[in-house]
Amino acid sequence: MQLPRQHRVVVVGGGFGGLVATRTLKRAPVRVTLVARSANHLFQPLLYQYATGILDEGEIAPPLRQVLARQRNVRVLLAEVDSFDLEGRVVTGRTPDGRGLTLAYDSLIVAAGAHSSYFGHNELALHSTPMKTIDDALALRRRIFGAFETAELATDPDTRRSWLTFAVVGAGPTGVELAGQLRELATRTLRDEFRSIDPSHSRVVLFDGGPEPLPRFGDQLASRAEMVLRGLGVELRMGRVVTAIDGDGLMARGSNGAEERLETHTVIWAAGVQASPLARMLADASGAGCDRHGRVEVLPDCTLPGHPEVFCAGDMVSLRGLTGMAEAAMQMGRYAARTIKRRAKGQGADRPFRYIDLGSMAYLSRGQAVVSFHGLRFHGFIGWLMWLVVHITFLTGFKNRVSALFTWVTAFGGRARNQRALALRDIEQRPPAAGRKSA
Ligand SMILES: Cc1cc2nc3c(=O)[nH]c(=O)nc-3n(C[C@H](O)[C@H](O)[C@H](O)COP(=O)(O)OP(=O)(O)OC[C@H]3O[C@@H](n4cnc5c(N)ncnc54)[C@H](O)[C@@H]3O)c2cc1C
Repeated sequence: MQLPRQHRVVVVGGGFGGLVATRTLKRAPVRVTLVARSANHLFQPLLYQYATGILDEGEIAPPLRQVLARQRNVRVLLAEVDSFDLEGRVVTGRTPDGRGLTLAYDSLIVAAGAHSSYFGHNELALHSTPMKTIDDALALRRRIFGAFETAELATDPDTRRSWLTFAVVGAGPTGVELAGQLRELATRTLRDEFRSIDPSHSRVVLFDGGPEPLPRFGDQLASRAEMVLRGLGVELRMGRVVTAIDGDGLMARGSNGAEERLETHTVIWAAGVQASPLARMLADASGAGCDRHGRVEVLPDCTLPGHPEVFCAGDMVSLRGLTGMAEAAMQMGRYAARTIKRRAKGQGADRPFRYIDLGSMAYLSRGQAVVSFHGLRFHGFIGWLMWLVVHITFLTGFKNRVSALFTWVTAFGGRARNQRALALRDIEQRPPAAGRKSA
């Protein structure tokens, strides 16, 4: 397929898939429009460090405009895409002031990611905090630090205990990383800061329906992670499914059917994801299938059936089990952009997408991480150094890398967590009947 001059590429999404695709098109003879409903590129793997007060917003979520400022063939639009006309090759959406947006394209790359899923039990969302967006992480940060503040003021021991209990649902990398951080926060950062409570007595309880944490990492690293988490003081409740969450606690059911209640005001949901609704929209429009997580089943070259000009990438795609990994999203985005470039040069048939496995890693605590790479397993300090190098390398922007490295030196070397702005209004939980006065 030979491309005409000023070929128009629309990229939906400014996450890992969308941003890498856009950057790969830097020197291509195309005009790129990147449309995303967030003005920032969020580095989700470090969201838990923002939620626990280590990194600041700029370090993990630089503005897309800034990241792409020097790429003259791209314009960035902050808008929400809500439909596609695949035959007419048009994307439509909504601008921030509610007006309609229409973007015509010659090639389209959609990488709209996924959102938290509650396995069909949306009532679980009412009293828990997810970990998907920068807003989620800020809300969580306020809940965490707010819980310690509220406990300091509590006079009743049971109330104090419930504020000092944190439940994390889901023992994948996000849940494990958060649980470890919560214990480090309580035992190191907050150690000498309170007078009525001892933060190190706080409980962090990690729930998962599976038998062990980090199932993707294999038994050996899962056992290692379990050992490190227990050493930190995290209570593991494996084989337990959380069935209900209210404002004062949660219920979990074990494999033997026994129900258990935990009194807590802070429940963090790190359990499941569902693809962006755009995935189903594209599947319906093209006749492609969708898996049970709503991901569109693309062809081996990441395109939709009958539409070689439409690529999908990242978490909204069902392709050989490659999902929930930033690296897979980046490789798909890069592949889509390179295919468009190859077509521009008239370079023969497109090759199918091939994923190069760069392994997985999870941070457990200061000096402790687990890494799985092509059958090799690393843990402890070596694993942690690998984690450090990879995350510094992949952070977006040189300034952010330097800044994050400096922050980590002070946070890991000392006890500091400086991102802790909190006001009473951020955590106030007055019942509606209390009749808050309007300002
Ligand atoms: C807390 C957390 C920790 C993680 N840790 C790791 C890890 O350690 N290692 C790892 O490999 N992976 C990790 N992941 C997974 C990884 O972040 C994802 O696989 C990756 O972000 C997927 O990239 P993506 O481009 O598909 O989607 P995203 O990065 O989610 O980007 C989606 C983009 O689409 C935009 N968008 C969505 N809907 C619309 C719409 N309707 N209109 C316009 N724009 C839209 C969004 O604004 C966003 O810019 C983690 C994820 C989370 C949430």
